[in-house]
Amino acid sequence: MAVRSIFRWPNQRCALCRLPLRDGDHYWCQHCVASLPRPPYCRRCGATTLEPVSHCGHCLRQPPPWDQLVRLGEYGFPLNRLVQQYKFQGKFWLSQPLAALLAEQMTEPAPLLLPVPLHPWRRFIRGFNQSALLAEALAELTGGDADHQTLRRIQRARPQHQLSRKARQQNLQQAFILNKRVWPDHVAIVDDVVTTGSTVSVLSQLLRKQHVARIDVYCLAFTPHYR
Ligand SMILES: [Zn+2]
Ligand SMILES: [Zn+2]
Repeated sequence: MAVRSIFRWPNQRCALCRLPLRDGDHYWCQHCVASLPRPPYCRRCGATTLEPVSHCGHCLRQPPPWDQLVRLGEYGFPLNRLVQQYKFQGKFWLSQPLAALLAEQMTEPAPLLLPVPLHPWRRFIRGFNQSALLAEALAELTGGDADHQTLRRIQRARPQHQLSRKARQQNLQQAFILNKRVWPDHVAIVDDVVTTGSTVSVLSQLLRKQHVARIDVYCLAFTPHYR
């Protein structure tokens, strides 16, 4: 899907290298866009592969609970810098160009996008939910619907990094609830960074219980440490 952001970078400098933008550039300069690593990856799990595949060997043996994962790249330079600017430095307007890069990869975008909710206090501190803004921007570009009400976080999960994989799953299963709605056949979970895969796995399982036939995960970056 060919998309182009209609927004301009506010101060006309590249978000990555800070050099002045030229006419036709949006948010980042052509050099930085060209140097964004786009390694081929497994469309099922997101792992980097030698060439684009629909299933890698690992997915054939142990498929993840979602059907497709779309991501920009691994969580390394320069994508990590963009994500940090977006998430921690309050540059919420980066949701637009980041979503545009992501939407370029989508051939069958999901009609319903569910952003992973932040716990309310964390959203209050940050001032915005980066996944919700990303879902909004994606929905605008793909003609979908970003739903912020159906998926809720009902308690503060304990810090995930202190827990075993199994304990992480149990911790997270108690942290989310899906409110009732009529489900389309195809739903996407939108998260900024998939790190352990635990959150999107739990949410995929919740959606599967609602008989959603196809579940996609849309994320900016992917950290290959969840296997
Ligand atoms: Zn640049
Ligand atoms: Zn795979």
